Amino acid sequence: MSRFLTEPLQTLRPYQPGEQPQNQEYLKLNTNESPYGPSPHVLEQLKRATNAGLARYPDPNATQLRAALARYYGLDGSSIFVGGGSDEILAYFFMAFFKRGDTVHFPAITYQFYQVYANLFGLQASTIPLTDQFTIDLAKVTTLPGHLILCNPNAPTGIALTPAQIEPIVAQNKNRLVLIDEAYVDFSDGKSCMPLLSKYDNLLIVRTYSKSRSLAGMRIGMAMADPQIIQDLDRIKNSFNPYHLSKLAITAGIAALEDEAYFTKTVQQTVDTRGKTAVMLSALGFTVLPSETNFLLVRHATRSGAFLYQALKKQGVLVRHFNQPGIECFLRITIGLPEQLEQLEKALRSIV
Ligand SMILES: *Cc1c(COP(=O)(O)O)cnc(C)c1O
Repeated sequence: MSRFLTEPLQTLRPYQPGEQPQNQEYLKLNTNESPYGPSPHVLEQLKRATNAGLARYPDPNATQLRAALARYYGLDGSSIFVGGGSDEILAYFFMAFFKRGDTVHFPAITYQFYQVYANLFGLQASTIPLTDQFTIDLAKVTTLPGHLILCNPNAPTGIALTPAQIEPIVAQNKNRLVLIDEAYVDFSDGKSCMPLLSKYDNLLIVRTYSKSRSLAGMRIGMAMADPQIIQDLDRIKNSFNPYHLSKLAITAGIAALEDEAYFTKTVQQTVDTRGKTAVMLSALGFTVLPSETNFLLVRHATRSGAFLYQALKKQGVLVRHFNQPGIECFLRITIGLPEQLEQLEKALRSIV
């Protein structure tokens, strides 16, 4: 740390991403990426895009990508925002709708970046407890002021709420903004809150291309909300990083929507493999939380999460272990290819 870093930032605890080893040594089941490559159509379009126009700035509004998303989701273009990954959109949300000292609500166990942003922007974090089934205790969502973030399906539990459960929270206080992080919703059984968008102007839905669209390396996220909310996000974005999406990201984002067959197939295979992985893990003595995502949160009857993480790593399998109260005994395992299941099973059998 240099002596120039300002005092409030000296205690900042940055987000700790899962390991990203830059070689192929590991079966990588630790950061919820898609095990499938991007659609061949995306790769084809990217090849063309690299031949044209990289000397010029991209369209700062990513108009074509927003229009393609609007068509795809049956929304108006003015209801769509895009960002360099959904993490960037979350940052704009914090910048736009909070000031220092404000309170932000989110579940006690959820995506850890919310707490990191709360710290960065000098906010009070108020956490909503989970039930002993690891579901979000909606009865504990107070009517107190302070915008609210719900990750649905939640990470790292994998458990989803229904839009019917969420709607009363949105309706309860129209002066409170509710952000639903739907990073994993494509793997769920119809749990998206998008149908609520036309009824509420205090609802903001954030999604990503990083998981179900196999494009984590491209950094594309999207948000849907009332046009005035979108305008606010644009105001912040244009005051911070106007050219936030590269030409390649815009191209890939549009192309991915054009290959619906590939998207449907890879999501369905992930869901199928998730079921098989859960069966295998249960047979080996794991408790498996009911996941509607591309990962499973699991706990072994006798072996600790920390032990299993290390033991699996020695066997060449990377999974995620969180040193977070409430889930220290768990492992989060990303769903891989069907043919990788055997390798995971073999490694686990030799350990437990
Ligand atoms: C992966 C993930 C994100 C970040 O997605 P990017 O678009 O890659 O920035 C956001 N929220 C949750 C819950 C995630 O799991």
